[in-house]
Amino acid sequence: MRPIIGVTTSRYTLSERVDRDRVYLAFVTYTTMVRAAGGIPVSLTPGGAEEVPALLERLDGLVFAGGGDVDPERYGGTPHESVYGIDPARDEFEIALVQEARDRRLPTLCICRGMQLLNVALGGTLLTDIATAGPGLIDHQRIDEPAGTRQHTVDIDPGSSTARAIGAGSLTVNSLHHQAIRDLAPGLVVTGRAPDGIIEAVASDDDWPMWAVQWHPESLGTDDEPSKRLFEHLVQAALERTATANADTLS
Ligand code: MN
Repeated sequence: MRPIIGVTTSRYTLSERVDRDRVYLAFVTYTTMVRAAGGIPVSLTPGGAEEVPALLERLDGLVFAGGGDVDPERYGGTPHESVYGIDPARDEFEIALVQEARDRRLPTLCICRGMQLLNVALGGTLLTDIATAGPGLIDHQRIDEPAGTRQHTVDIDPGSSTARAIGAGSLTVNSLHHQAIRDLAPGLVVTGRAPDGIIEAVASDDDWPMWAVQWHPESLGTDDEPSKRLFEHLVQAALERTATANADTLS
């Protein structure tokens, strides 16, 4: 049985001409990584929070993909000119997804916006704009270069679930974000930081199989061993959870 992995989507307007040009899209980089790891990806379009329990009943795992910023109103942040791509429907849906996924211990991988959204959903706050947050911070928003370009190192806590998943204690990653976690939400632990102290990886402090990274492993691709392993850990955890659930049903 290949696990079914839900992948969150981003809203785009292809043109203003006709209604059908308003779309929610899953990025191929994510679906490719899920398939390469043995999962079957399905796109999740934002619906009301009341849909979430029934949806997660049918999924084996989740990927919270990158995308626009979380609305600062969600975490008591202040508006900033650099904030972009706010989608209130997406925020509402994904916050409900995080909370329900944690309650169910559903295997979850959060990437970039996904990690920030995770933190907000669980009660944390965000640094609204790294570039204007103070001196000494490195440029984390290297959107002028190809997405797979490596920009800075990340030190991973060697005893963490993040280290076990990626199989490395330190790595050099790409960086395509202008926001970061400020106050960490209850229930999360920091497992990786950039040289300037910016949080680049977090995990759950309990038995929830959840990995969250601020960089983009899906853009580093299947040839990059740590990135490949991260998706494989998600799919493996999804497989094990569903196998256990089925065994419980049969017994
Ligand atoms: Mn970074």
